[in-house]
Amino acid sequence: MSDQLSQITHHYHEILKGLGEDPEREGLLDTPKRAAKAMQYLCRGYEQSLDEIVNGALFASDNDEMVIVRDIELYSLCEHHLLPFIGKAHVAYIPTGKVLGLSKVARIVDMFARRLQIQENLTRQIAEAVQQVTSAAGVAVVIEAKHMCMMMRGVEKQNSVMTSSVMLGAFRQSTNTRQEFLQLIGRSK
Ligand SMILES: [Zn+2]
Repeated sequence: MSDQLSQITHHYHEILKGLGEDPEREGLLDTPKRAAKAMQYLCRGYEQSLDEIVNGALFASDNDEMVIVRDIELYSLCEHHLLPFIGKAHVAYIPTGKVLGLSKVARIVDMFARRLQIQENLTRQIAEAVQQVTSAAGVAVVIEAKHMCMMMRGVEKQNSVMTSSVMLGAFRQSTNTRQEFLQLIGRSK
């Protein structure tokens, strides 16, 4: 076991005791280690970098029309409660000579989602990363997500979906561009 894994495992053992459980009972024997591994997996975005994710998958293109990747599945953890928030991301950009490999947009979303987050920061980090990689004329990101910390505890608003958006460049400056994007992701009024 790596140092980090054994340390997190130890702490999960203590958490179980703190919750009034018996970590030595059969069903829980391997739970601290499994929980530690799961948490490491859910936070693996810390170990990744934009360069490594994109890995040169930028292609020359004279397309200057909006590129949209819709309905990217998103799983993250809220940094306030360490509980999941789950939803979809929609990402658009307007290329200026370079387009990004299609799967890379989803991988950028994943890299930032697999960290402790709040939805607003996650939205901005994705937008700025796509901007940085593509030098696009504009980037738009909308995230719609349900937060377990809202649904399972506290107010228990079970169906509330939080929407956050970040518009950069052309999407910020031009109402038409923004409208076109919102229409294409089915969110315009
Ligand atoms: Zn929370």
